[in-house]
Amino acid sequence: MTTALPAFAAIVVAAGSGSRAGEAKQWRALGGKPVARWSVEVLLAAGAEEVVVVIADGAAAEARTALAGLSGWRLATGGATRAASVRNGLKALGGPGDRPVLIHDAARPLLDAPVIRRLIAALQDADGALPALPVADSLRRASDGLVAGAVDREGLWRAQTPQAFRYQAIVDACAAWPDAEPATDEAAVLERAGGRVRIVEGDPRLMKLTFPEDFAMAEALIPRQIRVGQGFDAHRWGPGTSVWLCGVEIPHDQTLIGHSDADAGLHALTDAILGAMGDGDIGDHFPPTDPQWRGVSSDRFLIHAVERLHARGGRLINVDVTLICERPRVKPHRQAMRERLAELLSLPLDAVSVKATTTEAMGFTGRGEGLAAQALATLELIA
Ligand code: MG
Repeated sequence: MTTALPAFAAIVVAAGSGSRAGEAKQWRALGGKPVARWSVEVLLAAGAEEVVVVIADGAAAEARTALAGLSGWRLATGGATRAASVRNGLKALGGPGDRPVLIHDAARPLLDAPVIRRLIAALQDADGALPALPVADSLRRASDGLVAGAVDREGLWRAQTPQAFRYQAIVDACAAWPDAEPATDEAAVLERAGGRVRIVEGDPRLMKLTFPEDFAMAEALIPRQIRVGQGFDAHRWGPGTSVWLCGVEIPHDQTLIGHSDADAGLHALTDAILGAMGDGDIGDHFPPTDPQWRGVSSDRFLIHAVERLHARGGRLINVDVTLICERPRVKPHRQAMRERLAELLSLPLDAVSVKATTTEAMGFTGRGEGLAAQALATLELIA
Protein backbone atom coordinates (compact mmCIF):
# COMPACT_ATOMS: atom_id res chain seq x y z
CA MET A 1 0.00 0.00 0.00
CA THR A 2 1.23 3.49 -0.76
CA THR A 3 0.72 6.36 1.62
CA ALA A 4 -0.87 9.56 0.40
CA LEU A 5 1.51 12.21 -0.88
CA PRO A 6 1.65 15.62 0.80
CA ALA A 7 0.00 18.39 -1.22
CA PHE A 8 2.11 19.40 -4.20
CA ALA A 9 1.85 21.38 -7.43
CA ALA A 10 3.59 21.03 -10.78
CA ILE A 11 4.84 23.02 -13.73
CA VAL A 12 5.06 21.31 -17.11
CA VAL A 13 7.28 23.19 -19.54
CA ALA A 14 5.85 22.78 -23.03
CA ALA A 15 7.05 26.04 -24.53
CA GLY A 16 9.15 24.74 -27.41
CA SER A 17 8.17 26.12 -30.80
CA GLY A 18 7.46 23.96 -33.82
CA SER A 19 10.01 23.41 -36.52
CA ARG A 20 9.21 24.90 -39.91
CA ALA A 21 8.40 21.39 -41.14
CA GLY A 22 5.70 20.67 -38.60
CA GLU A 23 4.12 21.00 -35.21
CA ALA A 24 6.11 21.18 -31.97
CA LYS A 25 6.88 17.76 -30.53
CA GLN A 26 4.92 18.33 -27.28
CA TRP A 27 1.64 18.36 -29.23
CA ARG A 28 2.48 15.40 -31.46
CA ALA A 29 0.71 12.09 -30.79
CA LEU A 30 2.48 9.37 -28.86
CA GLY A 31 0.52 6.18 -28.20
CA GLY A 32 -2.64 7.92 -29.42
CA LYS A 33 -2.42 11.10 -27.29
CA PRO A 34 -0.43 14.33 -27.35
CA VAL A 35 3.02 14.13 -25.75
CA ALA A 36 2.29 16.90 -23.19
CA ARG A 37 -0.95 15.23 -22.08
CA TRP A 38 0.90 12.15 -20.78
CA SER A 39 2.69 14.05 -18.00
CA VAL A 40 -0.29 16.25 -17.09
CA GLU A 41 -2.52 13.18 -16.70
CA VAL A 42 0.02 11.40 -14.49
CA LEU A 43 0.66 14.46 -12.30
CA LEU A 44 -3.07 15.02 -11.78
CA ALA A 45 -3.68 11.33 -11.09
CA ALA A 46 -0.83 11.38 -8.53
CA GLY A 47 -2.66 14.16 -6.68
CA ALA A 48 -1.15 17.42 -7.96
CA GLU A 49 -3.35 20.25 -6.65
CA GLU A 50 -2.55 22.40 -9.66
CA VAL A 51 -0.60 21.90 -12.86
CA VAL A 52 0.61 24.97 -14.74
CA VAL A 53 1.45 24.15 -18.35
CA VAL A 54 3.87 26.70 -19.81
CA ILE A 55 3.36 27.07 -23.56
CA ALA A 56 4.74 29.13 -26.39
CA ASP A 57 2.93 32.34 -27.28
CA GLY A 58 0.14 31.45 -29.69
CA ALA A 59 -0.09 27.76 -28.72
CA ALA A 60 -3.12 28.09 -26.42
CA ALA A 61 -5.63 26.56 -28.82
CA GLU A 62 -3.36 23.59 -29.48
CA ALA A 63 -2.76 23.12 -25.75
CA ARG A 64 -6.48 23.28 -24.88
CA THR A 65 -7.21 20.63 -27.49
CA ALA A 66 -4.38 18.44 -26.19
CA LEU A 67 -5.58 18.69 -22.59
CA ALA A 68 -9.33 18.61 -23.23
CA GLY A 69 -11.34 16.71 -20.64
CA LEU A 70 -8.75 17.05 -17.85
CA SER A 71 -9.30 19.44 -14.97
CA GLY A 72 -6.83 20.98 -12.54
CA TRP A 73 -4.47 22.53 -15.11
CA ARG A 74 -4.08 26.05 -16.48
CA LEU A 75 -1.84 27.69 -19.02
CA ALA A 76 0.97 30.22 -18.67
CA THR A 77 2.95 31.75 -21.50
CA GLY A 78 6.66 30.97 -21.73
CA GLY A 79 9.57 33.33 -22.21
CA ALA A 80 12.53 33.54 -24.56
CA THR A 81 14.55 30.95 -22.63
CA ARG A 82 13.73 27.88 -20.64
CA ALA A 83 14.67 29.74 -17.44
CA ALA A 84 12.24 32.56 -18.32
CA SER A 85 9.51 30.00 -19.03
CA VAL A 86 10.04 28.37 -15.64
CA ARG A 87 9.94 31.78 -13.92
CA ASN A 88 6.62 32.54 -15.65
CA GLY A 89 5.29 29.17 -14.55
CA LEU A 90 6.33 29.81 -10.94
CA LYS A 91 4.70 33.25 -11.02
CA ALA A 92 1.46 31.78 -12.37
CA LEU A 93 1.49 29.08 -9.72
CA GLY A 94 2.08 31.17 -6.62
CA GLY A 95 2.69 29.89 -3.07
CA PRO A 96 2.44 28.70 -0.38
CA GLY A 97 6.19 28.92 0.04
CA ASP A 98 6.72 25.51 1.56
CA ARG A 99 4.58 23.60 -0.96
CA PRO A 100 6.56 21.09 -3.02
CA VAL A 101 6.63 22.00 -6.72
CA LEU A 102 7.64 19.59 -9.45
CA ILE A 103 9.13 21.17 -12.56
CA HIS A 104 8.92 18.86 -15.56
CA ASP A 105 9.75 18.83 -19.28
CA ALA A 106 6.77 17.95 -21.45
CA ALA A 107 9.28 16.21 -23.76
CA ARG A 108 9.63 13.44 -21.14
CA PRO A 109 6.12 12.00 -21.42
CA LEU A 110 6.51 8.59 -19.78
CA LEU A 111 6.36 9.80 -16.20
CA ASP A 112 5.29 7.33 -13.54
CA ALA A 113 3.91 7.84 -10.01
CA PRO A 114 6.79 6.10 -8.14
CA VAL A 115 9.26 8.74 -9.37
CA ILE A 116 6.93 11.48 -8.09
CA ARG A 117 6.74 9.77 -4.69
CA ARG A 118 10.53 9.41 -4.44
CA LEU A 119 11.06 13.09 -5.31
CA ILE A 120 8.60 14.43 -2.77
CA ALA A 121 9.90 12.10 -0.06
CA ALA A 122 13.43 13.37 -0.71
CA LEU A 123 12.37 16.95 0.10
CA GLN A 124 12.10 15.97 3.77
CA ASP A 125 15.85 16.39 4.19
CA ALA A 126 16.94 18.31 1.08
CA ASP A 127 16.05 21.59 -0.64
CA GLY A 128 15.65 19.95 -4.01
CA ALA A 129 15.55 16.51 -5.62
CA LEU A 130 16.16 15.20 -9.09
CA PRO A 131 15.71 11.76 -10.64
CA ALA A 132 18.85 10.41 -12.26
CA LEU A 133 20.28 7.22 -13.72
CA PRO A 134 23.84 6.02 -13.36
CA VAL A 135 25.97 6.17 -16.49
CA ALA A 136 26.32 2.59 -17.74
CA ASP A 137 28.39 3.07 -20.91
CA SER A 138 32.07 3.82 -20.64
CA LEU A 139 32.85 7.41 -21.55
CA ARG A 140 35.48 8.71 -23.96
CA ARG A 141 36.74 12.09 -24.85
CA ALA A 142 37.38 12.43 -28.57
CA SER A 143 38.98 14.95 -30.83
CA ASP A 144 38.80 14.94 -34.66
CA GLY A 145 37.17 11.49 -34.51
CA LEU A 146 40.01 9.99 -32.52
CA VAL A 147 39.82 8.86 -28.92
CA ALA A 148 41.71 11.26 -26.73
CA GLY A 149 41.33 9.53 -23.39
CA ALA A 150 38.78 7.90 -21.14
CA VAL A 151 36.52 9.73 -18.70
CA ASP A 152 35.95 8.13 -15.32
CA ARG A 153 32.21 7.54 -15.01
CA GLU A 154 32.42 7.05 -11.25
CA GLY A 155 30.04 9.52 -9.60
CA LEU A 156 28.42 10.59 -12.90
CA TRP A 157 24.63 10.58 -13.28
CA ARG A 158 22.19 11.32 -16.09
CA ALA A 159 19.74 13.90 -14.74
CA GLN A 160 16.05 13.72 -15.68
CA THR A 161 12.88 15.63 -14.80
CA PRO A 162 10.62 16.26 -12.94
CA GLN A 163 12.77 17.98 -10.37
CA ALA A 164 11.24 18.83 -6.99
CA PHE A 165 11.67 21.94 -4.83
CA ARG A 166 9.95 23.94 -2.10
CA TYR A 167 8.18 26.78 -3.88
CA GLN A 168 9.89 29.76 -2.25
CA ALA A 169 13.35 28.15 -2.41
CA ILE A 170 13.25 27.75 -6.21
CA VAL A 171 11.63 31.18 -6.73
CA ASP A 172 14.47 32.81 -4.76
CA ALA A 173 17.14 30.75 -6.54
CA CYS A 174 15.73 31.67 -9.98
CA ALA A 175 15.68 35.36 -9.01
CA ALA A 176 19.36 35.15 -8.02
CA TRP A 177 20.46 33.42 -11.26
CA PRO A 178 22.34 35.72 -13.68
CA ASP A 179 20.13 36.37 -16.70
CA ALA A 180 22.91 36.12 -19.27
CA GLU A 181 23.96 32.61 -18.28
CA PRO A 182 22.04 29.60 -19.60
CA ALA A 183 20.97 27.23 -16.80
CA THR A 184 21.27 23.46 -17.27
CA ASP A 185 18.15 22.86 -15.22
CA GLU A 186 16.43 24.09 -12.07
CA ALA A 187 18.49 21.78 -9.82
CA ALA A 188 21.63 23.58 -11.04
CA VAL A 189 19.98 26.91 -10.25
CA LEU A 190 19.14 25.82 -6.70
CA GLU A 191 22.60 24.37 -6.19
CA ARG A 192 24.22 27.67 -7.23
CA ALA A 193 22.08 29.41 -4.63
CA GLY A 194 23.50 27.08 -1.99
CA GLY A 195 20.66 24.53 -1.88
CA ARG A 196 21.19 20.83 -1.26
CA VAL A 197 19.84 18.69 -4.12
CA ARG A 198 19.30 15.01 -3.52
CA ILE A 199 19.49 12.39 -6.28
CA VAL A 200 16.66 9.86 -6.35
CA GLU A 201 16.34 6.80 -8.57
CA GLY A 202 15.23 7.85 -12.06
CA ASP A 203 13.37 5.82 -14.66
CA PRO A 204 14.74 4.75 -18.07
CA ARG A 205 11.27 5.39 -19.50
CA LEU A 206 11.64 9.09 -18.65
CA MET A 207 13.75 9.48 -21.78
CA LYS A 208 13.62 12.88 -23.45
CA LEU A 209 12.14 13.10 -26.93
CA THR A 210 14.90 14.96 -28.70
CA PHE A 211 15.30 13.47 -32.17
CA PRO A 212 12.50 12.32 -34.51
CA GLU A 213 13.57 8.67 -34.07
CA ASP A 214 13.04 8.97 -30.30
CA PHE A 215 9.29 8.74 -30.90
CA ALA A 216 9.59 5.14 -32.10
CA MET A 217 11.70 4.29 -29.05
CA ALA A 218 9.18 5.90 -26.69
CA GLU A 219 6.29 4.07 -28.41
CA ALA A 220 8.07 0.82 -27.65
CA LEU A 221 8.45 1.79 -23.98
CA ILE A 222 4.74 2.44 -23.40
CA PRO A 223 3.31 -0.33 -21.20
CA ARG A 224 0.68 -2.23 -23.15
CA GLN A 225 -1.61 -5.13 -22.47
CA ILE A 226 -3.05 -7.83 -24.68
CA ARG A 227 -6.86 -7.90 -24.90
CA VAL A 228 -9.19 -10.45 -26.47
CA GLY A 229 -12.76 -9.80 -27.58
CA GLN A 230 -15.42 -12.01 -29.12
CA GLY A 231 -18.48 -11.28 -31.21
CA PHE A 232 -21.49 -13.22 -32.44
CA ASP A 233 -24.15 -12.34 -34.98
CA ALA A 234 -26.94 -14.02 -36.94
CA HIS A 235 -29.19 -12.91 -39.77
CA ARG A 236 -32.23 -14.52 -41.42
CA TRP A 237 -32.28 -15.66 -45.06
CA GLY A 238 -34.76 -13.98 -47.45
CA PRO A 239 -35.33 -13.53 -51.17
CA GLY A 240 -32.34 -12.17 -53.10
CA THR A 241 -29.56 -12.88 -55.57
CA SER A 242 -26.38 -12.34 -53.58
CA VAL A 243 -25.06 -12.14 -50.02
CA TRP A 244 -22.35 -10.03 -48.37
CA LEU A 245 -20.00 -12.02 -46.12
CA CYS A 246 -16.78 -10.61 -44.63
CA GLY A 247 -16.89 -7.68 -47.03
CA VAL A 248 -17.23 -9.84 -50.17
CA GLU A 249 -20.37 -10.14 -52.31
CA ILE A 250 -21.17 -13.74 -53.22
CA PRO A 251 -23.79 -14.70 -55.82
CA HIS A 252 -26.45 -16.79 -54.07
CA ASP A 253 -30.12 -17.63 -54.48
CA GLN A 254 -30.96 -15.88 -51.21
CA THR A 255 -29.77 -12.87 -49.26
CA LEU A 256 -29.45 -12.07 -45.58
CA ILE A 257 -32.08 -9.72 -44.20
CA GLY A 258 -31.00 -6.83 -42.01
CA HIS A 259 -31.02 -3.10 -41.52
CA SER A 260 -27.59 -2.64 -43.12
CA ASP A 261 -26.14 -5.04 -45.71
CA ALA A 262 -26.53 -7.79 -43.03
CA ASP A 263 -22.89 -8.91 -43.32
CA ALA A 264 -22.90 -11.10 -40.21
CA GLY A 265 -19.17 -11.78 -40.50
CA LEU A 266 -18.30 -8.08 -40.34
CA HIS A 267 -20.84 -7.50 -37.57
CA ALA A 268 -19.39 -10.27 -35.40
CA LEU A 269 -15.87 -8.96 -36.05
CA THR A 270 -16.83 -5.36 -35.24
CA ASP A 271 -18.31 -6.56 -31.94
CA ALA A 272 -15.16 -8.57 -31.18
CA ILE A 273 -12.99 -5.44 -31.54
CA LEU A 274 -15.38 -3.28 -29.51
CA GLY A 275 -15.55 -6.07 -26.93
CA ALA A 276 -11.79 -6.22 -26.48
CA MET A 277 -11.82 -2.48 -25.78
CA GLY A 278 -14.81 -2.65 -23.40
CA ASP A 279 -16.46 -0.17 -25.77
CA GLY A 280 -20.05 -1.41 -26.03
CA ASP A 281 -21.43 -3.15 -29.08
CA ILE A 282 -22.26 -2.38 -32.69
CA GLY A 283 -25.85 -1.46 -31.76
CA ASP A 284 -24.60 1.26 -29.38
CA HIS A 285 -22.53 2.88 -32.09
CA PHE A 286 -24.92 2.30 -35.01
CA PRO A 287 -28.49 2.01 -33.64
CA PRO A 288 -30.69 -0.09 -35.99
CA THR A 289 -33.44 2.49 -35.40
CA ASP A 290 -31.33 5.18 -37.08
CA PRO A 291 -32.37 5.49 -40.76
CA GLN A 292 -28.90 6.69 -41.83
CA TRP A 293 -27.55 3.11 -41.48
CA ARG A 294 -30.22 1.55 -43.72
CA GLY A 295 -28.56 -0.57 -46.41
CA VAL A 296 -25.06 0.77 -45.72
CA SER A 297 -21.97 -1.32 -46.27
CA SER A 298 -20.85 -2.88 -43.00
CA ASP A 299 -17.26 -1.89 -43.85
CA ARG A 300 -18.22 1.39 -42.18
CA PHE A 301 -18.91 -0.30 -38.84
CA LEU A 302 -15.64 -2.22 -38.85
CA ILE A 303 -13.58 0.83 -39.80
CA HIS A 304 -15.28 2.85 -37.04
CA ALA A 305 -14.26 0.25 -34.42
CA VAL A 306 -10.67 0.25 -35.69
CA GLU A 307 -10.56 4.06 -35.62
CA ARG A 308 -11.70 4.01 -31.99
CA LEU A 309 -8.94 1.51 -31.25
CA HIS A 310 -6.32 3.71 -32.90
CA ALA A 311 -7.59 6.78 -31.03
CA ARG A 312 -6.72 4.95 -27.81
CA GLY A 313 -3.24 4.15 -29.06
CA GLY A 314 -4.13 0.50 -29.62
CA ARG A 315 -3.44 -1.85 -32.50
CA LEU A 316 -4.93 -5.06 -33.79
CA ILE A 317 -2.86 -8.23 -33.62
CA ASN A 318 -5.05 -10.83 -35.30
CA VAL A 319 -8.68 -11.70 -36.07
CA ASP A 320 -10.43 -15.02 -36.57
CA VAL A 321 -13.93 -15.31 -38.04
CA THR A 322 -16.09 -18.43 -38.31
CA LEU A 323 -19.13 -18.45 -40.61
CA ILE A 324 -21.80 -21.01 -39.74
CA CYS A 325 -24.15 -22.07 -42.56
CA GLU A 326 -25.10 -24.97 -44.84
CA ARG A 327 -25.11 -22.77 -47.96
CA PRO A 328 -23.51 -20.99 -49.77
CA ARG A 329 -20.19 -22.82 -49.82
CA VAL A 330 -17.71 -20.43 -48.21
CA LYS A 331 -14.47 -22.18 -49.12
CA PRO A 332 -14.22 -20.89 -52.72
CA HIS A 333 -14.50 -17.31 -51.38
CA ARG A 334 -12.40 -17.65 -48.26
CA GLN A 335 -9.21 -16.23 -49.72
CA ALA A 336 -11.05 -13.18 -51.11
CA MET A 337 -12.62 -12.61 -47.69
CA ARG A 338 -9.26 -12.80 -45.92
CA GLU A 339 -7.76 -10.39 -48.42
CA ARG A 340 -10.65 -7.95 -47.99
CA LEU A 341 -10.41 -8.09 -44.18
CA ALA A 342 -6.62 -7.70 -44.27
CA GLU A 343 -7.11 -4.61 -46.43
CA LEU A 344 -9.83 -3.11 -44.20
CA LEU A 345 -7.84 -3.79 -41.03
CA SER A 346 -4.33 -3.07 -42.40
CA LEU A 347 -3.19 -6.47 -41.16
CA PRO A 348 -0.91 -8.98 -42.85
CA LEU A 349 -2.78 -11.87 -44.43
CA ASP A 350 -1.49 -14.41 -41.92
CA ALA A 351 -3.10 -12.40 -39.10
CA VAL A 352 -6.55 -12.78 -40.70
CA SER A 353 -8.45 -16.05 -40.59
CA VAL A 354 -11.83 -16.88 -42.07
CA LYS A 355 -13.24 -20.34 -41.41
CA ALA A 356 -16.57 -21.95 -42.16
CA THR A 357 -18.55 -24.78 -40.72
CA THR A 358 -21.99 -26.29 -40.94
CA THR A 359 -24.03 -27.50 -37.99
CA GLU A 360 -24.73 -30.84 -39.68
CA ALA A 361 -28.30 -29.84 -40.57
CA MET A 362 -29.13 -29.10 -36.93
CA GLY A 363 -30.57 -25.88 -35.56
CA PHE A 364 -31.55 -22.67 -37.36
CA THR A 365 -28.47 -22.62 -39.59
CA GLY A 366 -28.92 -26.32 -40.33
CA ARG A 367 -32.53 -25.78 -41.39
CA GLY A 368 -31.43 -22.93 -43.65
CA GLU A 369 -33.34 -20.27 -41.68
CA GLY A 370 -30.32 -18.07 -41.23
CA LEU A 371 -26.55 -17.71 -41.10
CA ALA A 372 -24.47 -17.13 -37.97
CA ALA A 373 -20.97 -15.79 -37.50
CA GLN A 374 -18.59 -15.63 -34.61
CA ALA A 375 -15.31 -13.76 -34.34
CA LEU A 376 -12.34 -13.27 -32.09
CA ALA A 377 -10.03 -10.26 -32.12
CA THR A 378 -6.73 -9.93 -30.29
CA LEU A 379 -5.37 -6.46 -29.80
CA GLU A 380 -2.93 -4.40 -27.83
CA LEU A 381 -4.02 -1.46 -25.68
CA ILE A 382 -2.09 0.99 -23.56
CA ALA A 383 -2.12 -0.46 -20.04
MG1 MG B 1 -25.90 -8.03 -37.57
